[in-house]
Amino acid sequence: MQYDVIVIGSGPGGYVSAIRCSQLGMKTALVEKYNALGGTCLNVGCIPSKALLDSSEHYYNATHHFEEHGIATGKVKADLQKMIDRKAGVVKKMNDGINFLMKKNKIDVVNGFGSFVDKNTVSVKKEDGSDVSITSKNIIIATGSKPTILPFMNFDGERIITSTEALKLPELPKHLIVIGAGVIGAELGSVYARLGSKVTFVEFADGMIPTMDKTMGKELLKSIKKLGADFHFNTKVSLIENLGKEVKVTAEDKDGKPVEIKGDYCLVSIGRRPYVDNLNLEAVGVATERGKVLVDEHTLQTNIPGIYAIGDVIRGAMLAHKAEEEGVFVAETIAGQKPHINYNLIPGVVYTWPEVAAVGKTEEELKAAGVAYKSGSFPFKALGRATASGDTDGLVKVLSDKATDEILGVHMIGARAADMIGEAVTAMEFRASAEDISRISHAHPTYLEAMKEACLAATDNRAIHS
Ligand code: FAD
Ligand code: NAD
Repeated sequence: MQYDVIVIGSGPGGYVSAIRCSQLGMKTALVEKYNALGGTCLNVGCIPSKALLDSSEHYYNATHHFEEHGIATGKVKADLQKMIDRKAGVVKKMNDGINFLMKKNKIDVVNGFGSFVDKNTVSVKKEDGSDVSITSKNIIIATGSKPTILPFMNFDGERIITSTEALKLPELPKHLIVIGAGVIGAELGSVYARLGSKVTFVEFADGMIPTMDKTMGKELLKSIKKLGADFHFNTKVSLIENLGKEVKVTAEDKDGKPVEIKGDYCLVSIGRRPYVDNLNLEAVGVATERGKVLVDEHTLQTNIPGIYAIGDVIRGAMLAHKAEEEGVFVAETIAGQKPHINYNLIPGVVYTWPEVAAVGKTEEELKAAGVAYKSGSFPFKALGRATASGDTDGLVKVLSDKATDEILGVHMIGARAADMIGEAVTAMEFRASAEDISRISHAHPTYLEAMKEACLAATDNRAIHS
């Protein structure tokens, strides 16, 4: 079959790109090695993790917060298997949704493992062992990423696991050891801590979510500690062993003191690596660097004309919405348009409770770049809405340019921060100043008033309620 575009990989980068290509009149094929479309995000990432986060949050609220609201429940029980079944139902519903979108947009879905034959040909190996060859002027690599796991961590998929297995555990861990207190560690660690597991984090850096603004990590740590979790920071793991019914983690703290932790499961969440295994990039000479496909900044084209790459397999944040933007970008580039992505304004969200959300520069980045800035913060505990709901942990921090007052970064931790960050992204896209936002009416009582108050604080230290 001859196509205008072949997309390899049906994650949020790939399937969104295929839809945009089809909207622009291109005959499009989408190659996916699994039977279910949607990639990491839908099948073992964003959506299933949020389904379990939501279920565990309901349970936690029922056992810890209902009483203060005057709701008597009697004994509440967590049924992990039912939560996992519900999660599978959510994923299935969304899989069906993507199948529908592929049909609606007349995209040919080719199931099987794709690999390059030459710069215009992809061979797809089907489940039954047969091969089919498809050709196209343009090929988009959207093959995503896989969890990073080091040899001495002895991954076995049963007790020493990655996020994929942590989304379908056969039982509630008594003691879950989490290696890496980044985004996955914080989210999935929260799930099990809320359900009653003892959770111990072992982290290389000196705090949680270390790549985000330091204030966020400090605040998140306070909240996760309230769930009863323990932390070993500045600690380097040297060995993980499955001892049968027990897992042993051997590590060393920053003074060289040995640390030994025993639990029944160990989640390794130390990052993800781009996935190009067996794609046969060598056959066409597509350049990579440490596994990442190299692309031209202006077109996302690889060094081989007509071959593009998007999403987790290239540089930048490994986020679904970043992959989607790139998917649309490449489709429009192939169609001869001149699209644009503002990488500085890709928001990052951690779906713990409270949620953490950020966009733009961190305070540490501004300091390192020597930018003169102002900072305004506003705590959730001074908000009427947060006091009413009982969600008083958290704050919004706005960083703006000292001379122009343009907003350079917004960092928030608190109830519904994931949704609230949208205002900051929009404001920054339109290059708003902190004062611009502080002069916009925000509905009362809402959590978003914290954004207005933080902007007032950044403008001229004139927050009203603190
Ligand atoms: P992927 O989603 O990884 O899709 C790549 C697809 O390509 C896969 O389906 C794969 O099977 C297929 N493929 C690979 N090679 C071949 C081949 N040779 N032939 C055929 N098919 C192939 N991001 C967020 O923005 N928000 C979140 O809340 C969030 N939560 C996450 C939670 C977890 C537990 C994890 C692991 C990730 C999470 N992410 C989240 C990250 C997000 O999942 C990724 O950034 C996103 O999926 C990347 O999209 P992609 O299209 O680049 O690749
Ligand atoms: P991450 O980069 O967020 O965190 C990894 C953590 O592990 C870091 O804190 C790092 O210091 C630590 N670490 C690295 N090596 C270590 C070692 N040997 N011992 C101890 N600690 C070590 O990576 P992740 O949490 O695995 O997530 C992978 C990717 O998936 C992220 O890039 C993220 O963008 C994406 N993701 C996003 C979301 C979301 O948007 N809500 C959720 C989950 C995953």
